[in-house]
Amino acid sequence: MGKDLSTEQEQKKIYEKLAYTVVKNLNRKYINAWYAPTKKEALSIVMELITEGVTVGTADSTTLLQVGVLSEIKERGCNEIINPFMRDEKGQFVVDEEERHNLMRKVFFTDVYVIGTNIVTLDGKLVNTDGNGNRVAAMIFGPKKVIIIAGANKIVKDLDGAFKRIREVCAPVNATRHALKHHRPEFYELPCVKTGTCTDCNSPVSICHHTTIIDGVAEKRRGHINVVIIGECLGI
Ligand code: SF4
Repeated sequence: MGKDLSTEQEQKKIYEKLAYTVVKNLNRKYINAWYAPTKKEALSIVMELITEGVTVGTADSTTLLQVGVLSEIKERGCNEIINPFMRDEKGQFVVDEEERHNLMRKVFFTDVYVIGTNIVTLDGKLVNTDGNGNRVAAMIFGPKKVIIIAGANKIVKDLDGAFKRIREVCAPVNATRHALKHHRPEFYELPCVKTGTCTDCNSPVSICHHTTIIDGVAEKRRGHINVVIIGECLGI
């Protein structure tokens, strides 16, 4: 028996095949798309798309942090970043709720909005669920250009698969992350955090109030949405 018990290589091949299908289908819908085998290659594509001097808006995204997009922009030092979700080293918000909401509104007027996505379907739909709505709204309208990055683990076959993954993986894990790492005890009350299973709750702190499906853009708006699929397991 061979000694290599890891299936990373095999997974990578599958990711690549899925990603090329997604890229082809996104392009068909006037969404620019690229496949980047690694985080490093994705970062270089993203940084080329963010020209010097433009304002950059963002929202809460684990993938962005894993790829290092915001730290790279800061290091380059040529862009103002509007980030309502800045947190200190303890995971707590740097600004209060009122200022956070002001910054969320400011994001709509930025030149470039960079963010992750919950799901991308094989036929090129971007599916997202959000508690506040700020993240999903700015993906559709407001910022002049939108850059979305996603690990290939976010690819599912169709909308049924998308809604299933959001309720079984994305939302429960994200809500648990807020409870554990961001010191938000109210999230411990959510059924999915308590039991690991979604009950389709109507909790005031549900993170599933708004679900959007982006199914292409108008031909004349090509370039508005840009997607980079990465051949790695990233985000939630
Ligand atoms: S229990 Fe509520 S917050 Fe949790 S995944 Fe279901 S709808 Fe979303």
